[in-house]
Amino acid sequence: MGSRQVTSWQGKNITVAGLGVSGVSAARALAGLGASVTVVDGGDGEGHRARAAELAALGISVRLGDAQTLPEGTDLVVTSPGWKPESPLFAAAGRAGVEVVGDVEIAWQLRGENAAPWLAITGTNGKTTTTQMLASILKAAGLRTAAVGNIGTPIIDVVLDEGAYDVLAVELSSYQLHWAPSVRAHSAAVLNLAPDHLDWHGSMGAYAADKGRIYEGNTVACVYNAADPATEKLVEDADVEEGCRAIGFTLGAPGPSMLGVVDGILVDRAFVANRQKNAQELAQVEDVNPPAPHNIANALAAAALARAFGVEPRAVRDGLRNFRPDAHRVAHVDEVAGVGYVDDSKATNTHAAEASLAAFEPVVWIAGGLAKGAAFDELVQKSAKRLRGVVLIGADRALIAEALARHAPEVPVVDLARTDTGAMLAAVREAARLAEPGDTVLLAPACASMDMFANYNKRGDAFADAVRELAAGDAADAAGS
Ligand code: ADP
Repeated sequence: MGSRQVTSWQGKNITVAGLGVSGVSAARALAGLGASVTVVDGGDGEGHRARAAELAALGISVRLGDAQTLPEGTDLVVTSPGWKPESPLFAAAGRAGVEVVGDVEIAWQLRGENAAPWLAITGTNGKTTTTQMLASILKAAGLRTAAVGNIGTPIIDVVLDEGAYDVLAVELSSYQLHWAPSVRAHSAAVLNLAPDHLDWHGSMGAYAADKGRIYEGNTVACVYNAADPATEKLVEDADVEEGCRAIGFTLGAPGPSMLGVVDGILVDRAFVANRQKNAQELAQVEDVNPPAPHNIANALAAAALARAFGVEPRAVRDGLRNFRPDAHRVAHVDEVAGVGYVDDSKATNTHAAEASLAAFEPVVWIAGGLAKGAAFDELVQKSAKRLRGVVLIGADRALIAEALARHAPEVPVVDLARTDTGAMLAAVREAARLAEPGDTVLLAPACASMDMFANYNKRGDAFADAVRELAAGDAADAAGS
């Protein structure tokens, strides 16, 4: 690490908000650089105390049970992703004229002189998938890399492991971008922009502005989604380095300076000689796992960033082939009586569910949960023609039922009127009843899960268990007949 950074942290009084994974990583790193660190957290449970004791052994103070007041003498506040901008601690910092930054900002400031460049990704949906695809492509190119940011090893730890990486694939949430004013990526992509987390950001304009920050100071490429003009607008508004290019991706045939799809082949018309006339084949659509339209868009964005970094076409193909998506993201669970069962529990907002539904037809849709203030009219309008039937679960299911009544009155709807955990088995049974051979039953709830489950993983697991139970019953029926 450069000596400049070490001296600038020495003796500084830093308050770290939150005793989570990123907070602990920040506290350790900053204490290691000579800062005087206090971690504050509203919790005071057994787990909190155990973590506090570990940090105390490193000379880090921890204040539990009060997340609101700013410790006396604080020079800088380091926040964790989940904290809202209007949290009382930040308001107190504002009154005291103390700067607030996030763990990503600290990571950026801790980079040494020869640090690995960042290829950064944000968007409402597809961030994790695209970041992992990018890391897979970079690995296939023989580069030392890691998928970090909102995922994996805390970004501060990775940055401090100097010399270990050639390039980083960095997933950045809108929260992290909000608190990371000086990050300057080599190249960056905004995958899409739809209303989400508006309770946190306050307005769509503020949310878009935070996402757009990812393009600031890019040196080689700003990658945007040609099907989502809001992402292109963010590129136009960004202040980038001289010579940095705007690169679009599209599911159709690409124009010059774009990546796209022609006859089932992912092609590059951006990073080729004579792009007015030439296109370079990168991979086949079947190389993308799974080859659903939204995921092909993710693959094109990952490919664009890799190509901006100089990766060869062959590595793009190999990296996409090697990639396996995380659980509960359009995961094929099983086929029972000729009907496919797909778990996209991670579709926790309407934009994600819309992309997911667009990949299947005819489809029996299992939806519902906590709506987080969303409206369902557009989603239902766009998906109506694909729907064989709908099974609704969860607290806010009436909102979806009303949208269905308005825009798809002919589609059969089973309203389960249940929010207990056993409801998922009933939902899958109802979906099986509605489905015909060749159909897909898709769990893409368009809602958060916390009304019925601990998180979206548990919701997806419950779905997969229910499908297994259904399959076992089906096998028993077949044996008995
Ligand atoms: P994030 O990290 O942004 O939450 P993930 O890669 O975990 O994104 O995907 C979350 C969900 O979003 C997926 O399960 C799928 O339903 C949906 N999704 C993924 N990629 C896209 C995309 N490009 N456009 C719309 N929805 C998408």
